[in-house]
Amino acid sequence: MQGLVVHPGAAHSTRVADVPDVKAGPNEVLLRILEVGVCGTDREISEGLYGTAPAGEQTLVIGHEMLAQVEQDGHGFTRGDHVTATVRRSCHHCIACNEDQPDSCLTGDYSERGIMRLDGFARELVAEDAAQLIPIPRSLGRLAVLAEPSSICARGIRHARAIGNRQPWQLQRALVVGAGAVGMLATFLLRLEGLDVWTASLEPANELAEAIGAHYVSTKDTDLKELGGFDLVLECAGDAQAMADSLGLLRRSGVACLLGIDPRKQRVSIDGPTIGADAVLENRVLFGSVNAQRQDWLAAVDGLARAHERWPDELAQLVSLRVPLDRFAEAFAHRGGKATLVLQSER
Ligand SMILES: [Zn+2]
Ligand SMILES: [Zn+2]
Repeated sequence: MQGLVVHPGAAHSTRVADVPDVKAGPNEVLLRILEVGVCGTDREISEGLYGTAPAGEQTLVIGHEMLAQVEQDGHGFTRGDHVTATVRRSCHHCIACNEDQPDSCLTGDYSERGIMRLDGFARELVAEDAAQLIPIPRSLGRLAVLAEPSSICARGIRHARAIGNRQPWQLQRALVVGAGAVGMLATFLLRLEGLDVWTASLEPANELAEAIGAHYVSTKDTDLKELGGFDLVLECAGDAQAMADSLGLLRRSGVACLLGIDPRKQRVSIDGPTIGADAVLENRVLFGSVNAQRQDWLAAVDGLARAHERWPDELAQLVSLRVPLDRFAEAFAHRGGKATLVLQSER
């Protein structure tokens, strides 16, 4: 069968290749992969900057954002069911992983489908641990390929609420910095909660954000400090300076959650009084969040289903390029919206 493989650490090694057939083990379900989303992590792996092959292997099958159909009945699933699967798996030797919360792994020895030590989903068939499967309502159709990036948002928002709720707090006004797939999905999820949502990015306009009732601001012509303080800031742009700036955009008891990644070697600056006085005197918090656990996946799928009901045309616009596996280079080069690889049609 065909799969999309890379040599981790080697730039531009991504290619479609024959990968070994799979059989479902006793606790596994055989999946027919329909579609796989491409994100910045895949691009980094493809550029040789990230990713680790499974033990004893030279290559890694990539793809961690997927929608599949169950191929064979079993473990409560029926052939044809739509499912996705979690990405990060237990390190088996820390208290977080032992409590089924590998998103909070304390050792870093976890594995991740398509990223770290575990082959991913960009291939025709995958045998997956039944306990890692997330059911997808049929009505969501192909948009369920957005479940993984949505789970990242859902976890960030859950943690922000947990942190904010450590004291009397009202989450009313939220700012999303960045309007890529994660920023826009966060905008959808926060709008579903009825919040006053502001979405900011470099582009001059964003009709999609406004169509779902968010305010859009271009950071090219607006200083975010002019918008007034926020209870929640979600940094989804992956810009370290914007991350530092987010602490200064909060109002009293505000929480800033960092979801983007910016590994560039650089120094960023922050106003002395923002961190030295405001953060203390106004009980502000700045924190990072990675990955997601089962409850976040379920919340993400539920949120997608509700967003699909309320804004079907708008949600559909988030996937702006679909290409077959052999045209992966186009998906990797795509900017502006989510690009996906279509592996197979539905049965
Ligand atoms: Zn991703
Ligand atoms: Zn662990």
